[in-house]
Amino acid sequence: MSDYKKLHAAVIEASNSKDWNIAKLEWEFISAYRDNSGKNCLCGHHIVEVCQIQNKHNLYILEVGNECVKQFNQDFDNLAKNILTIEKCLSKNTPSNLAKFAFQKGLITESELKFCLETAKKRKPSVKQEQWKININSKIIGRLKQRVCPKCRLGNLIDKKGKFGNFLGCSKYPECSHTEPISD
Ligand SMILES: [Zn+2]
Ligand SMILES: [Zn+2]
Repeated sequence: MSDYKKLHAAVIEASNSKDWNIAKLEWEFISAYRDNSGKNCLCGHHIVEVCQIQNKHNLYILEVGNECVKQFNQDFDNLAKNILTIEKCLSKNTPSNLAKFAFQKGLITESELKFCLETAKKRKPSVKQEQWKININSKIIGRLKQRVCPKCRLGNLIDKKGKFGNFLGCSKYPECSHTEPISD
């Protein structure tokens, strides 16, 4: 059982409103990824599937587990699950809610969205459709994988080479010096 009190307190701290029921509406889902480096959710639990949410007003980014993300909106959890499923198998049909989310975020074009919605239930796509699906899914996952830097919230985290091996660093370096180890 997650410690929702702890989660709520941490979210309120990073929100404009100090009332949980209003504060939770300030947040929108931005991405989900797997991480085996031993991250903790705001509730204190160890998490592997990490959901990133961003405050629409102050642009803060928080990372929570898939149990706690349901506290904001059930859709956030569905999106996270769909992203992680598609990432594992790029030839799967793009779920409609993920296609709509990707379109809203400008990750795919209107014709790609239309294609996803029309073929969302299709079991046997043609070779051409199959290829288009893989292209669209790769595009969505590739763009979502560009995680926003949790420190400056402006740059993306990108692969960098260092003296002691590869690591993730902020694309806004040298203005931002955030780094973190690569997991997996
Ligand atoms: Zn949690
Ligand atoms: Zn940064």
